[in-house]
Amino acid sequence: MSEQPRQSGATEEYDVIVIGAGVSGMYALHHFRQMGLSVRVYDGASDVGGTWWYNRYPGARVDGPGSPFYCYTFSDELMQEWDWEETQSEWSAVLASLEPVADKFDLRKDIQFETWVKDARWDDAAQRWHVETDTGVQASAPFLICAVGALSTTNMPDIPGLHDFAGECYHTGRWPHEPVSFEGKRVAVIGTGSSGIQAIPEIAKTAAHVTVLQRTAQFAFPCGNRPITPEDMAEARENWDAIKAKMYANMGGFPHDGNTRSALEDTPEERRALYESLWQRAGFKFFLDLYADIAANEEANASLSDFVRDKIREIVDDPETAEKLLPDHYVMTKRPILENGYFEAYNRDNVTLVDLREDPIERFTPNSVITRSGEHPIDMLVLATGFDAISGTMLKLDPKGRDGLALKDRWHDRFHNYVGITIAGFPNLFMIHGPGSPGVFYNMPLGAERQLAWIGDLIQHMRDQGQATVEPTTESEDAWAGEVGAIADATLFPRTDSWWTGANVPGKPRYFSAYLGGDIYYQRIADVAKDYAGFVFEPARGEEDAEAS
Ligand SMILES: Cc1cc2nc3c(=O)[nH]c(=O)nc-3n(C[C@H](O)[C@H](O)[C@H](O)COP(=O)(O)OP(=O)(O)OC[C@H]3O[C@@H](n4cnc5c(N)ncnc54)[C@H](O)[C@@H]3O)c2cc1C
Repeated sequence: MSEQPRQSGATEEYDVIVIGAGVSGMYALHHFRQMGLSVRVYDGASDVGGTWWYNRYPGARVDGPGSPFYCYTFSDELMQEWDWEETQSEWSAVLASLEPVADKFDLRKDIQFETWVKDARWDDAAQRWHVETDTGVQASAPFLICAVGALSTTNMPDIPGLHDFAGECYHTGRWPHEPVSFEGKRVAVIGTGSSGIQAIPEIAKTAAHVTVLQRTAQFAFPCGNRPITPEDMAEARENWDAIKAKMYANMGGFPHDGNTRSALEDTPEERRALYESLWQRAGFKFFLDLYADIAANEEANASLSDFVRDKIREIVDDPETAEKLLPDHYVMTKRPILENGYFEAYNRDNVTLVDLREDPIERFTPNSVITRSGEHPIDMLVLATGFDAISGTMLKLDPKGRDGLALKDRWHDRFHNYVGITIAGFPNLFMIHGPGSPGVFYNMPLGAERQLAWIGDLIQHMRDQGQATVEPTTESEDAWAGEVGAIADATLFPRTDSWWTGANVPGKPRYFSAYLGGDIYYQRIADVAKDYAGFVFEPARGEEDAEAS
């Protein structure tokens, strides 16, 4: 294996092909290059950044632990060289932080943009993946890294007559690069997940009217975005080693200690006092400093749900609107949402809430949406309907493994995988943030680094042992599924319909597929790497034949 790509007929040959140039694909390129491998990356987008390149809707921000901890840890220089300005950085600031990474490590020279991989097929005789793109590229490599994104394929709502609407229509996950003006326009927003809740207050600032078409009422918590001062940055830089160590040890990959107490250890008054102080402080730390059993114990959960419902009633002036905004699922069992004036937006004269559960959409006309209660004239429709998450983009890619086995067939009933990275029947294919891994339950840049380090070690092991292919057994997949399921079943997460359980996409296998427990996952995969139990290796075809003769 070498850093130099080769050419065989019309096919470009590499050691590693990476699909996706978001945070994960960018690091994959750097990491494998460091190992002396030739790497080619393909991305349908026009530049690096993935999520942050696409999600340019108004109000789009980091809604995890926030800057400066939503970042790479592999290069200390990056921390020294980039100044973050806000704790919950806007999409543009995250994108701006990734561009110097691409420059510093000269990543773009090995990335082909505006290029969709439309076919990825395992060639068993050659022990290589063959990839074909929509731009006519044919390429092959023994290793295929699918850094295709857990929140990458948009979920389009299946609403009768949606296409009859003739006005401007945008999906938050594919927001135009040209400025979109809401000035004087009547805008309808479908969806009140993270994207909708971030976008609605921003749109309402200039739109003539915003009609929010709510499918599910949501728990949302104050974002608490704050400026990061030069002193904050200096402190973070000074303590960077300690901060990194904390991130590696923390359940979610964040530099916080967290709260290990049960909510039931405190009286109702003490619980309320804690919730109130966290609410006032605001920000992602709200979740980290909550009781440890909020998402595992019904009584603990109810204590927080009641608190947030009371807050919604307090903030929203109109009691009828407030009532429609009250969520009725277990709090925290849908993605926790950080909001910037979302509930307050309903106190504006130009924002109306339509609860689709009691007033469903009947159809669209060229200039309105008609719900059971009547017609709402609109000029623009914003689809904040999220993603075919976690498994959706892998299924869209639909790689073909041994004997032409399609991933869609292998995954028709559940997302079979081992260690959340590999799939039986798909040798040398590795997923980043796939089902069976912590994925969206972890600080994702750090998660990508850790998974890619693990994959790099496995490839190195294969080189050392003279092995050409690796894939898991179906028995190890089943055991892994049992482990993932047992952890999830000890919580309330599987009891709520959410994109985590695939409930937002009709026909998808419905179950909670993520590995909860962050750093435990990394300990588990480190254990697996001690002897790679659960995997089957094959030497290079020629060597196998030579041994047999
Ligand atoms: C609004 C928003 C806020 C978020 N906030 C946080 C946060 O605070 N903390 C956090 O940890 N995470 C957050 N996330 C999750 C975010 O997706 C990840 O943090 C991270 O950016 C994912 O990077 P990735 O490289 O794995 O995937 P992506 O960024 O999704 O990149 C995948 C890339 O693969 C490309 N691709 C897919 N299929 C193909 C194909 N067949 N051919 C060619 N190219 C292909 C896509 O074009 C895309 O560019 C947020 C997500 C959103 C939408």
